Amino acid sequence: MGKIIQLPDEVISKIAAGEVVESPAAVVKELIENSIDARATNINIEISDAGLTKIRVVDNGEGMLEEDLRICFRRHATSKIRTFDDFLKIRTCGFRGEALYSIASVSTITIKSKVKDSLAGNKLSIEQGVAGDITPVGMPNGTEVIVDDIFINLPVRKTYFNTKPLEHTKVLDKVIDTALANPQVGFSLKHNDRVLLHLPKNQTVHTRLGYIFDQEMVQHLLKIELKDAHIRIWGYITKPQSASSSTYQYLYVNNRPIKNKEISKIIKECYGTLLDIRAIPGYVLFLELPYELVDINVHPQKLVAKFVNETQIYNLIREGITKTLGIEDLTYKYSEVKSEFESFANAKRKKGDPYLAQKLKDSTTVWNFKTNQKTLDKDILQIHNLYLLTELPQGLLVVDQHAAHERILYEDFLEQYKKETISNDYVDTETYIDVSPLLAEVLRSYTNDLKNFGIEFEEFGKNSFKITKIPHFLESQNIKVVILELIEDLQQNKTTVAMNNIAVKTIAFLACRLAIKGGDYLTPAERKNLLEKLFRTKSNYTCPHGRPVMMEISNTELKKMFKRLG
Ligand code: ADP
Ligand code: MG
Repeated sequence: MGKIIQLPDEVISKIAAGEVVESPAAVVKELIENSIDARATNINIEISDAGLTKIRVVDNGEGMLEEDLRICFRRHATSKIRTFDDFLKIRTCGFRGEALYSIASVSTITIKSKVKDSLAGNKLSIEQGVAGDITPVGMPNGTEVIVDDIFINLPVRKTYFNTKPLEHTKVLDKVIDTALANPQVGFSLKHNDRVLLHLPKNQTVHTRLGYIFDQEMVQHLLKIELKDAHIRIWGYITKPQSASSSTYQYLYVNNRPIKNKEISKIIKECYGTLLDIRAIPGYVLFLELPYELVDINVHPQKLVAKFVNETQIYNLIREGITKTLGIEDLTYKYSEVKSEFESFANAKRKKGDPYLAQKLKDSTTVWNFKTNQKTLDKDILQIHNLYLLTELPQGLLVVDQHAAHERILYEDFLEQYKKETISNDYVDTETYIDVSPLLAEVLRSYTNDLKNFGIEFEEFGKNSFKITKIPHFLESQNIKVVILELIEDLQQNKTTVAMNNIAVKTIAFLACRLAIKGGDYLTPAERKNLLEKLFRTKSNYTCPHGRPVMMEISNTELKKMFKRLG
């Protein structure tokens, strides 16, 4: 007997579902894109338990006739293309006819829909791929989709998402993705009956950005507008000074949200030395190009696009952003930190980096190491503003300056923190922060963990918070910056080591954030200071994220390299 069989439909549908609707957020994306394709002007989304128990999307779009409702959840059932030719110049969000099919096979889905010219709507429920009867239902024009118990028949995935505390923010992220590309459409999103987002219809991209992100970010946006014969690029990028605490990157190709690492890289390169080496510029960019020059059918969730003339597009982006950054007045306003700058003026720091200045200010408290320790008497060479090189009796030592400082700060903070938790020695503060709805959710999700850590806050209006208590060791830091960066880190869950303890995690984040970076010039005294302090840490082989801090090349190895005998 041969070894090949044709898979049963039920298996095929679960496989397809795995690709298209791998998460509750992906389901929400598909449903709201259907609403947009149906020309809805208002879309209301409600989710329970990050979407795992319920997702409900209500739109006021054109709706479906009874006969369409009957087949809309079948595989490859679509109203959006008829021929292969249509497919090549697709303008709608959907076209594969896979979303409802995939969702229906892993949940219980109920679709109610009413077209404008009929008196009543129709309702259909499908339980794990099996459809019930269609019944009439009274409802306004449009479509309502309710997805109950997603992944009911995929227990591993269900458990996986159940243990993810920030999963609902992924849904929010997807809604923001789509909402930015469709500013004329009104959106609202509720999670467990709490409103996470409310966006009125008929906005511009710029006003919408003001609704979605903190006002401060929007004030620091630069407009991009560029065209060549075929391609138009427009949108907004962040000014360099607001880039270091910003991770907002939105790219649209013919109004479709796309991820493209190369473009992110190019955009960052355009900022050049205006940006700290690890800072991330935010952007919302729209690329409009002829449909025959782009293939959006290369990813199951359509998150990637392939361009025919990639280089031309990249060059245009590079040109547009470099030009904008060149024209705009990008002078930093760093009045508070200016004096620190001047004292380091001869140390060739990158021009106008308030963040670095802040760190240098802080570093005075961090670097005051005790005396009577063995000192380094050899010269320390800094290469590429990245590594420190020095002689050891047994060979040559290479140190990663960022990882080293990170390790030092980490142990410093940890020690202080341990002392403080024993003495419960927290400080009162009154610091106000405004954050995006997304980060507000992250902050709320970590309320208890942060409290245990010594950070307490109160809600203060829409997505504004008043920080009321902080651990002592944060007192000398720019609390606003530290907390904002902390939330962003928590959101991205950047840590690679399994550190369950939020305090340790937070301290590691802080150490990483506050440490000097690759690219920072260090004076000979600072190099010495750094290495001496490093030798005194408890574990100086890796940074808190597990990367190596230093490498030793032994005399024997050196000898071997140069083929010296003996
Ligand atoms: P696709 O979007 O690729 O066509 P879907 O499985 O997402 O595939 O949807 C199948 C069809 O169901 C769509 O082509 C559309 O005709 C119809 N449909 C789905 N959602 C809606 C909606 N919210 N309003 C009107 N029609 C819808
Ligand atoms: Mg669709």
